Amino acid sequence: MDRIGVLAMQGAFAEHIGVLRQVGAEAFPVRLPGDLEGISGLVIPGGESTTVIRLMEEYGLTRELHRLIEGGLPVLGTCAGMVLLARSVRGMTQETLGVMDIEVRRNAFGRQVDSFEVDLDMPALGASPFHAVFIRAPWIESVGTDVDVLASLSDGTAVAAREKNMVVAAFHPELTGDLRFHTYFIESVCGNFKASAAEVR
Ligand code: GLN
Repeated sequence: MDRIGVLAMQGAFAEHIGVLRQVGAEAFPVRLPGDLEGISGLVIPGGESTTVIRLMEEYGLTRELHRLIEGGLPVLGTCAGMVLLARSVRGMTQETLGVMDIEVRRNAFGRQVDSFEVDLDMPALGASPFHAVFIRAPWIESVGTDVDVLASLSDGTAVAAREKNMVVAAFHPELTGDLRFHTYFIESVCGNFKASAAEVR
């Protein structure tokens, strides 16, 4: 069974744990470096990215997370989690893990549309659209050559992407009861990781 750690500094971690259990994974909160032992995947949930990175630093998680993700550990970052994985944040100096070749903009949609919901086409999840909930969300400004955009808004703004072992979404796939995003993460990202780990052996 997949052992998926969910970073539980602050924010929407309980919802992710619930959805991961529904899709058949063993899911548990990660608060300290020791909790990372033996995990086969990691979720970095939404929350407040500046608070989360500060707490990660305080609990001594930053360096180990960096090492594991660079080493190929599958990771799903949603909303603030996407910000934390990004190489850079447009228009501000914000500390991130900087492991994924994307640039993001925080709170990108502005005050008028602080939060909104939209049906997104996301071919990686199948033919029917994915109902996406955006809450003070970031968007993706630009992606590097190894990054695949998985979903965009109708105006072309990229809101979900994948680079090798890393998947990000600007929205909250843990909130709608549609399990396909987490299933994709477990089967296509964590599954690949297990397959390639097995090849090495
Ligand atoms: N606005 C938050 C940030 O940039 C993200 C919001 C969320 O994760 N729902 O840190």
